[in-house]
Amino acid sequence: MIFAANFKTNHTRKSTKKYIETLLTKIIAKKEGDKVYIFPPATALDQFCGDVILGAQNAYMAQNGAFTGEIGLEQLEEFEIKTILIGHSERREILGESQTFIAEKFAYFQSHGFEIVYCIGEPLEVRQQGQHSVVEYLLSQFEGIDTSYEKLIVAYEPIWAIGTGRSATLEEIGNTHEALKKTLQKPLLYGGSVKPENSKEIIAIRGVDGLLVGSASLDAENFAKMITD
Ligand code: PEP
Repeated sequence: MIFAANFKTNHTRKSTKKYIETLLTKIIAKKEGDKVYIFPPATALDQFCGDVILGAQNAYMAQNGAFTGEIGLEQLEEFEIKTILIGHSERREILGESQTFIAEKFAYFQSHGFEIVYCIGEPLEVRQQGQHSVVEYLLSQFEGIDTSYEKLIVAYEPIWAIGTGRSATLEEIGNTHEALKKTLQKPLLYGGSVKPENSKEIIAIRGVDGLLVGSASLDAENFAKMITD
């Protein structure tokens, strides 16, 4: 199983360090082969010893240069960061990243051998149209993406379930993962209001290879519970 924590715009450099120290003491009991990823804000990127992989929530597709407000490859290399989140709905919706831009970013980090956690997810109005529309919408989010990339991990995160406290039902997750797995032979995570109270039943669903957790991952003990339960 893969357990990934997306801090978004939460935690500082100092609190991330403390978080990782705490988490490492709590996940000694994790199952062999399980992998834990932390995506802190860019200011908290660093090198840590221990069984967690640090990734970037975002970066620009350049080594360095005139891209005000962005970080590039050079800033990631300083800390040997080789994992990145691409396509998160907050970047698509709030930051206005188009599918073309996302695909370019994907290709750039693929060409540099990054492990890519690629996020897809449908808005509520599409979910309300039924499963067929959901799958069609999700598959359209692979436009320009090399789905055969060996270091690709996909995260299915229905937008209406992110940060709302309302996770998709077990049936919705199961059906969607099953449909995606027909065209995608990659690890497939679920994200959207996952918490210790529902994580166990979600990871038990066939076709779910792990979790991408936002709000409920901000507390190290909470996140550790989801990993070790
Ligand atoms: C996310 O945004 O990646 C996410 C899963 O958020 P939350 O767990 O808060 O719904």
